[in-house]
Parts: sequence; C-alpha cells; structure tokens
Amino acid sequence: MHEQVAGTVVALTGASSGIGEATAHHLAARGARLVLGARRQDRLDAVVGAITAAGGDAVGVVVDVTRRDDLRHLVDTAVERHGRLDVLVSNAGTMNVTPFDQLDQDGWDAMVATHVTGLLNGIAAALPVFRRQASGQFVNVGSTAAYVVKAPQGVYAATKTAVKILTEGLRQESGPDLRVTLVSPGFTDTEGVGKGTTGDVAAWMEQQRVAIAMPPSAVANAIGFAIEQPAGVDVSEIVVRPTAQA
Ligand code: NDP
Repeated sequence: MHEQVAGTVVALTGASSGIGEATAHHLAARGARLVLGARRQDRLDAVVGAITAAGGDAVGVVVDVTRRDDLRHLVDTAVERHGRLDVLVSNAGTMNVTPFDQLDQDGWDAMVATHVTGLLNGIAAALPVFRRQASGQFVNVGSTAAYVVKAPQGVYAATKTAVKILTEGLRQESGPDLRVTLVSPGFTDTEGVGKGTTGDVAAWMEQQRVAIAMPPSAVANAIGFAIEQPAGVDVSEIVVRPTAQA
C-alpha cells in the first residue's frame, strides 16, 4: 500500500503486456483500483487474474484505442464501478520500425492511429470527467525517440513527438486542478520490441533488447512516481532510459 496511491482509480491502456502490465502490477501493489484496457482479452484476463489473486482490485475492458467508443467505455467503466476516475495512463503503442523504402503504410497508419488518434480519444473520454471532478491526471507514455531520431525510426519518432507536444499543450491548458505527465522510456525489454519489424532492423532491435534494455518495471516505477505525488504537485516529464543507451 502507498498512502497517496491507495484507492486511486486508474484506467490504463496497453495493459496486456510489457510496460502496461508492469505498471498495472506496480500500482495494484500500492492499492490502486485499476480498469485495464487492451485488445487481447486472454492476455488482459491473465493480468487481471494475477492482480486479483494477489489481493488487488482490477477489471479488464477490451479496448482498441483507435476507436472513440472503446475509450469512452473504459472511462465509463471506471466511473460506474468506482464513482470517479483519478488517472488515465495512455500507454498503448506499437513499434513498426521500418525503413521508408519498405513503404510499410499499414505500420505507419497503425502508429498514427494508436499513438496520436488513440491518445486524443483518451483525452476526449477522460477530460470531461476530470473537469466535472475538478481533479484528474493524464499520464502519457512517449519515447526517447521523440528526443533523438535514429533511422529507421522516423515515423515512430514522429508519432511519439506528437505525444510529447500534445502532452505539453494539454498541460498548458489543464489549469490548477489537473496534472499532466509525459513519461518517455528508452529501450525496454518487452515483447513489443521488434514486433512490427523484419530483417536487419529486427535483428538489430533484438540485439539491443538483449544487450541494453531495462526491465519494464523501471518504467512502471517512473509512472508510479508521477502518480504518487501529493495533489497540486505535477511531475510534468520523466525520461527514463538504460544507462547503456546512447
Ligand atoms: P508491448 O507490445 O508489450 O505493449 C503494447 C501494449 O499496447 C499491449 O498491451 C497492446 O495490447 C497494446 N496496444 C497496442 N495497440 C493497441 C490498440 N490499438 N488498442 C489498445 N491497445 C493496444 O510493448 P511496450 O510495453 O514496450 O509498449 C508500451 C508503450 O511503451 C508503447 O507506447 C511504446 O511505444 C512505448 N515505448 C516502448 C519502448 C520499448 O523499448 N519497449 C521504448 C519507448 C516507448 P493488445 O495487443 O492486447 O491490444
């Protein structure tokens, strides 16, 4: 249990694996009440089952963040179940890292839809609730790719730069009642690394994952730190990367 986190109602996207799964466990252990979203019901059920078996409070909702109604359903579930929503963690993401010459338009579309449209869908769903409550926190998961672009990460980095800019724009408009946090991870050891990639790039990413990646719990710790601050304290931005990452 954590004094500031216990009882906090958190909706979290991308909770079925990797950083989202680690964050769900981190927050559950500190007493947060969780509403977890992702597309893969079986993986979501496994995360919810593990948390509840350990005495935590979690429910899963099948969510595709590219769909407005799904985000509204996630937020509505939190409000119906707990009477409020305190934090929305927008973590869902996809790493379709490919050279431009490969013309992976489906991958480009997926990244724009997930990172940009998906983030906006979450903001649209949660902001009216936060305004009504006169409290709430957005935690958006960006990437170090938004700080230094390395080929062939151009499209991925562009969408994560959009996450960074949207977060700062939202923070400036949020006023004194809301908190808005950007957490930008570096190389993290998750199944997402190399998933949307083939050939030399996939081999390089796998080599990097084995050689330098940090555990997803490192990012969960950073997200937890931003959430556990007292009301009125806004952790605006955290960059967390492996020491070995250039
Ligand atoms: P994972 O692939 O393990 O996790 C991605 C999560 O996002 C899964 O739970 C997946 O669930 C979910 N997701 C993907 N698309 C959608 C969608 N359209 N709707 C709902 N959920 C979706 O990878 P990570 O944990 O590494 O990624 C989490 C975040 O961290 C991403 O935003 C990623 O860009 C970011 N990040 C990761 C880094 C790394 O090195 N791993 C570095 C920097 C940032 P499902 O498929 O069940 O929907």
